[in-house]
Amino acid sequence: MPQGENITATRSSQPTADQRADQKEDRYDAQRIETKWSERWQQDTSLYAAESDSTKPKYYALEMLPYPSGVLHMGHVRNYAIGDALARFKWMNGYNVLHPMGWDSFGLPAENAAIQNNTPPRVWTLRNIANMKAQMKRLGFAYDWSREVTTCLPEYYRWNQWFFLKLYEKGLAYRKKSRVNWCPQCATVLANEQVVNGCCWRHEDTLVEQRELEQWFLRITNYAEELLAGINKLEGWPEKVRTMQRNWIGRSDGTLVDFKVDSQAGEALSVFTTRVDTIYGATSVQLAPEHPLVATFTKHNDLLRADVEKLIAEQRKAKEIGEIAAIEKHGVRTGHYAINPFNGERLPIWIANYILMDYGTGAIMSVPAHDERDYEFAKKYNIEIRLVIVPSPDDPEETVAEPVLPFTTMQGTLVNSGPFSGLTCGQAIEKMSAHAEQHSFGKATVTYRLKDWGISRQRYWGTPIPMLYCERDGIVPVPEEDLPVILPEKVEITLSGGSPLSKVPEFVNATCPRCGGPARRETDTMDTFVDSSWYFYRYTDAHNDRAPFDSKTANHWFPIDQYIGGVEHAILHLIYSRFWTKFMRDMGMVKNDEPTERLFTQGMIIKGGAKMSKSLGNVVSPDEMVSRYGADSTRLYTLFATSPDRELDWQGEGVEGIQRFLGRLYRVVTDSTELVVRAPDLPVGPAARALQRKLHQTIKRVSVDFEGRWHFNTSIAALMELNNLLSGMGSDISAGNIPPEDVAGAKRTLVLLLAPFAPFLAHELWEMLGEQGSLLKAPWPKYDPELAKEDEIEIPVQVNGKLRSVVTVPSGSSEDTIRDAALADEKVISSIAGKQIVKKIIVPGKLINLVVR
Ligand SMILES: [Zn+2]
Ligand SMILES: [Zn+2]
Repeated sequence: MPQGENITATRSSQPTADQRADQKEDRYDAQRIETKWSERWQQDTSLYAAESDSTKPKYYALEMLPYPSGVLHMGHVRNYAIGDALARFKWMNGYNVLHPMGWDSFGLPAENAAIQNNTPPRVWTLRNIANMKAQMKRLGFAYDWSREVTTCLPEYYRWNQWFFLKLYEKGLAYRKKSRVNWCPQCATVLANEQVVNGCCWRHEDTLVEQRELEQWFLRITNYAEELLAGINKLEGWPEKVRTMQRNWIGRSDGTLVDFKVDSQAGEALSVFTTRVDTIYGATSVQLAPEHPLVATFTKHNDLLRADVEKLIAEQRKAKEIGEIAAIEKHGVRTGHYAINPFNGERLPIWIANYILMDYGTGAIMSVPAHDERDYEFAKKYNIEIRLVIVPSPDDPEETVAEPVLPFTTMQGTLVNSGPFSGLTCGQAIEKMSAHAEQHSFGKATVTYRLKDWGISRQRYWGTPIPMLYCERDGIVPVPEEDLPVILPEKVEITLSGGSPLSKVPEFVNATCPRCGGPARRETDTMDTFVDSSWYFYRYTDAHNDRAPFDSKTANHWFPIDQYIGGVEHAILHLIYSRFWTKFMRDMGMVKNDEPTERLFTQGMIIKGGAKMSKSLGNVVSPDEMVSRYGADSTRLYTLFATSPDRELDWQGEGVEGIQRFLGRLYRVVTDSTELVVRAPDLPVGPAARALQRKLHQTIKRVSVDFEGRWHFNTSIAALMELNNLLSGMGSDISAGNIPPEDVAGAKRTLVLLLAPFAPFLAHELWEMLGEQGSLLKAPWPKYDPELAKEDEIEIPVQVNGKLRSVVTVPSGSSEDTIRDAALADEKVISSIAGKQIVKKIIVPGKLINLVVR
């Protein structure tokens, strides 16, 4: 048992004079205090549990669950310190708070660790979880561990499988062969969302390859429009994230036009354009090097194939360095032609390095007169440039000078465009799209950048996809009652040769539930983003073994009131989980359209201007900080160094400074200077009033920041100011200038305000103040706006020596403030109207006299 235990136990009862003397010498000992409270909190497993059948308003505070890599990093500490402060604030404000935590515990690192250390992924993962959980407890985060969710356990992932079957039933899960992103390092397929600048999201220097594979997809595009429209309603989300989602979904309105390819029997080429009104100006058609038609063109043309391979390599390289938009445009002629269905013109087909297969249809019509990129390309290869729009003059009288090419405008009229000449751009787009549809060679259409979500992974450590392949019946879903399909334990893991599960005959060989014949089990596992798409619903009913969760319970807690996590999830987890919620709503499982009411994305922690990384040797370990300064100082520093949304550059001295502040606060609160009892009818003097004012201003600042902008750095600065004021008031206190109950009240309030940020010390001081009830749910202090106000005084305003008005200004106001107040007063304005002020006489605190003529 830690040494301090007995001393504190006596202190919480009435201290004797001797003990008080001991106390005075006592210094803030973070390790002693934090060990003591950690032990107490861990003994009470229901301490942070949400109440069932509570009449209090609910509050669901959630931080994104971590991947159990083995140790927490400082970024985690910052994220959880923010969420924990909020949860504690809400508890103190009378809410029934749900504040759970769990583990996003499937994924590749466990397999890599297994290969390196010969430890099974399950063992490695569960050990890491135990370690990180102990760290979280040591840091004092107030989680309801009775609801812990661990995604790699069958009790959780069986519901991933259940959802998959439902998606399949509804036609929202399907299998198809397609070109997919392949990371050679991960040895698995990646979703589009996991490709960053052409590279793997986990291997920033590994170029993603394209492979043709049979894959399972989720039809997220069915919800593209709703996912887009819903962004407008997410007012509690950072604008940055909303913009990223809008761009990722990438709606564009345009027209699909089919061009026939003249040398291929009946083959058509679909072009997507947002400006069909310029189609008479098209002088070539250009394909992405990876367009399927290119393969047929190069089949019997080795020269062309070699050229195309070069283009593909260039395009990848440009993607790799993130400069695809700035690529120097060039291409090759195929010798083939596409026929413009509007005028029958034969347009040469080119393959160009700047056309991307993942945008639109991977084919464009090139209109050099009215598009910058097309112009550049046409100039280079001497392709005809044909004007088809003349800009409308701003003034109808004005004649338009010869326009400088290229130019793009919607404010113009068509020329050289057959029967469509003379129409405005807007009219032409409408008429020409209708014309295309009428003649069955195209239609107005909306395209999205968002593609269906490929979820098959050729890896071991994930949820088995519950599907069977029977020679007679084809694809057969595993019957619901046979779930879960358990991930086998004894598997040899290698990063080559396809899915590790395919090498486990006991797993692969199954019986077809339809015909009873032999069937082969699907050996790919699910993308781990499936796990995190709905985990927060499971927290509401974490031990349900009949359903993923009970709808009624989930509907009580949802939507999440505040979600907190990194911005790196803006287009991965935060889109997938919105999709999942909409799907569950359509199944009748939940009522909410969106999972999260408010989202907060905290800034990154860096050191010495760079991201913390092992290779740079600038990693600050939370364990080391906690053992040196204590959990309270570590947490408080992450909240104080800057506002939580900004990048934090870690300064070692900063944590030390915070520790010193907590030491001062400890001394101020535990200071046992004899309080001088005063006569009750003595008027409030200036010292007492100053304390009163500061106290109420501090409560106001901290409360307002919690409800609004979350500038916890200024909240903590306000606590420091209050503490400084109290600490400097020793002589006033001993002189009896401040009522003892005011001093005691201020100390008590200071502890209450500290509780969300530094819970260990706050609990210790609370007990030392002799408080009986739990600080966790002690009522948050209220401020009195009157008492928080700066004192005001009335200043008479004279004009030429005659009293005209009286203005109110804060006491101690400068001459400028008094003058401005006087000159803004209506009575003064009317009495000096039309006259000139020749002199202002100001007696600060007394009067102002304006001399006018
Ligand atoms: Zn990778
Ligand atoms: Zn069968």
